[in-house]
Amino acid sequence: MRLIFLGPPGAGKGTQAKLLTERYGIPQLSTGDMLRTAVAQATEVGKRAKAVMDAGQLVSDEIVNEIVSDRIDAPDCAKGFILDGYPRTVPQAVALDRMLEEKGLKLDAVIELKVDETALVRRMENRVTETVAAGGTVRSDDNPEAFRRRLQEYREKTAPLSEHYARTGRLKTVDGMADVHTVTAEIEKILA
Ligand code: ADP
Repeated sequence: MRLIFLGPPGAGKGTQAKLLTERYGIPQLSTGDMLRTAVAQATEVGKRAKAVMDAGQLVSDEIVNEIVSDRIDAPDCAKGFILDGYPRTVPQAVALDRMLEEKGLKLDAVIELKVDETALVRRMENRVTETVAAGGTVRSDDNPEAFRRRLQEYREKTAPLSEHYARTGRLKTVDGMADVHTVTAEIEKILA
């Protein structure tokens, strides 16, 4: 099973991807997580990505395309994978189509989570409050200014992807405002 999750920051892509990972025994590939790991380890990619990420802007297509292409060659992706946070631009989607074709792989579904923008800011603030309460470290891009920028990047660069996938009949839309379990049930209906 090869899936893509689309939706704005805070839509719940990561939450749903994690739940499906357990159900289908396939890994969640979050480019955000991979980049944060690269930053934490201060790799070459991490050094190039840090300031861009902190400002809420997108890392270059070239960097993320390469990270994803390498990652899906790993043995744990043999049965499939869930992409969370990639592709995020039309050129990334085109690169992904090409990459999968070269590897002889096909996408099973592209699932978009639809959420009101006002709810997104509230979700980000809740995530910060919960993280602090749990004694965790707040993401350096989970602050109002960077979040506004992330939403703007989404509107300008990522929202057009829905059209890219709809044109080829691959897009399925789910109401991301429903509670977590209802959203999961809707996604499972699509995948059944
Ligand atoms: P969100 O919670 O906004 O969905 P992510 O954890 O997916 O955030 O990503 C955090 C940051 O990592 C993004 O704001 C961006 O700087 C960078 N990033 C992640 N995925 C991509 C991508 N596919 N293309 C470019 N930048 C990316």
